Amino acid sequence: MLSDFYPSSVFKFCPFCGAKEFVWDGAKSHTCGACRHRLYVNEAAATVALIVNAQGELLFVRRRSDPAKGTLDLPGGFVDVGETAEHAVVREVKEELNLEVSGLQFFGSFPNRYLFGGVVYFTLDLVFVCTVHDFSPLCAADDVDACMFIAPQKVSVEQIGLESIREVVKRYAGVSE
Ligand SMILES: [Zn+2]
Repeated sequence: MLSDFYPSSVFKFCPFCGAKEFVWDGAKSHTCGACRHRLYVNEAAATVALIVNAQGELLFVRRRSDPAKGTLDLPGGFVDVGETAEHAVVREVKEELNLEVSGLQFFGSFPNRYLFGGVVYFTLDLVFVCTVHDFSPLCAADDVDACMFIAPQKVSVEQIGLESIREVVKRYAGVSE
């Protein structure tokens, strides 16, 4: 069960004073029974790129690592501290696919649960439709094993590992018909 790895299940000690009276409120935060510090669990920002070729096919990648290793995914990744989402999506596409993207158009935001290192990180995936003028530098690198163009209406969502990405593709397939 993914909920077994939620911060509310995993984090047992107060990070301020170390006391083992770190009580989950059932919704948003822990409170320390000893020093009274309150620690909130928030969503981390991540980005997703929707990139289509001239045939209207969507650019997918195959995940090199867990979570969901080997499944289909869309390009993108976490926003660094102090970075804008726009910068992050441009940087991630360059790192993963060696492509320059421009003309970002915000598509929507999709919550996700991301199990990494024994704890679930709650993310908010910020999705952008991106323009690529030159696909010739395209090559898979970084945390991506392979990349491929697939018509959004033809991809089976069972091949997509991350729940937010399934929702992104379903919605995009609906509006691009
Ligand atoms: Zn404490």
